[in-house]
Amino acid sequence: MTNIQTTDKELLARAKKVIPGGVNSPVRSFKSVGGTPVFIDRAEGAYLYGRDGKAYLDLICSWGAMIFGHSREEAAEILKEQALKGISFGAPTLAEIEMAEQVRSMMPSIQMLRMVNSGTEATMSAIRLARGYTDRPKLIKFNGCYHGHSDSLLAQAGSGVLSMSNPSSPGVPPEMVKHTINLEFNDQEQLKDTFAKEGKNIAAVIIEPIAGNMNLVPADQEFLQLMRELCTEHGAVLIFDEVMSGFRVALGGAQQIYGIVPDLTCLGKVIGGGLPVGGFGGKQQIMEQLAPVGPVYQAGTLSGNPMVIALGLHTLRKLDANFYSDLTKTGETITNIVMRLANETGIKICTDQRGGMLGIYYNLDVPPKNLQEAQQQDADLFKKIFFALLNEGVHLPPSHFEACFISSAHGTEELAKLTTAIDNIIASGQLG
Ligand code: PLP
Repeated sequence: MTNIQTTDKELLARAKKVIPGGVNSPVRSFKSVGGTPVFIDRAEGAYLYGRDGKAYLDLICSWGAMIFGHSREEAAEILKEQALKGISFGAPTLAEIEMAEQVRSMMPSIQMLRMVNSGTEATMSAIRLARGYTDRPKLIKFNGCYHGHSDSLLAQAGSGVLSMSNPSSPGVPPEMVKHTINLEFNDQEQLKDTFAKEGKNIAAVIIEPIAGNMNLVPADQEFLQLMRELCTEHGAVLIFDEVMSGFRVALGGAQQIYGIVPDLTCLGKVIGGGLPVGGFGGKQQIMEQLAPVGPVYQAGTLSGNPMVIALGLHTLRKLDANFYSDLTKTGETITNIVMRLANETGIKICTDQRGGMLGIYYNLDVPPKNLQEAQQQDADLFKKIFFALLNEGVHLPPSHFEACFISSAHGTEELAKLTTAIDNIIASGQLG
């Protein structure tokens, strides 16, 4: 039995004996900042609570999923109602149709949708589908974008552009990434050259149109426009990975902001309301290549699980365009408050925002355009600010390569808490 007095340090030591690194997903381990993660006891509204009862203003929002914050009671009601009807059927339900129709009404490029259990599954399956549809092997991805941990995506650039990629993790044989081409984000020339040389072999281009896995780095409008044109011209499938940006940056995702229609879109996070989820969808002609209609195999015991669909559908139905203008205003206020750190202590930070995703960049004059620029951030400065804020009860994502996430539960009281935290840090002189 765990006593409530047990410290997080003691819990981490205990966890490490039975869970690799003590966590079930690496970023939670605080590896890039050092120290001990806060073990969470419960969450409510915009706050996470440690086991000692300390409240933390949550700027992670379960890595984007909790768009309304932690609305426990509402979720509990929906889940209870569904649980009493049944937790899993392994057979089709009306709610799954409603989910696909709801997603299509919000993101019209998704004519058909297949639900899966994680973002990783969504991207892996979308890529297989694109390869099956085009009967081509090659995949273009961009440095700094994260699309989950399936083999062909765990690839890093080789020594030169267009050289073969190398696995970025042991356990991925080089053969698994030999068809993956890694290019620089926002580099139009590389993209043009690659299509000129490899066009007829390229099955798909996958991109986070608003990247949130190298801090927040939105693609340039012209870059995505060019990508769309090249994919159309060469018959490659354009896949927008909106696992993070979907239903978080705008009602219709990044594709609505840019006005660009991808062939396939990958979803996750918000569409499950905080339960494990993924989904991919797009053009009917491509989606009908999937089993059982077409030959491309894809399946899942718990895919479209009734509990997930109930909560996800409830979440999507509550969203509208006003929701995002309010969220955007909250985000602007938060970045303004954070900028006081720079204005009043002389340290260099800058910020950017897309809807409910925020970027805070450490020791950069302007927001980065690609991974190389994001890597110019000052990790030590980030660590200092991260722990200063944590001490004040504000929980940033524990890495300067992650975007921050806000929710509609981040209201006046929460903004006041952040202001006080920042004031205290400024007054303490700890940042110089
Ligand atoms: N794609 C993007 C853009 C993501 O941010 C993530 C996870 O953070 C994934 C895919 C993978 O999703 P999951 O962690 O649900 O497998």
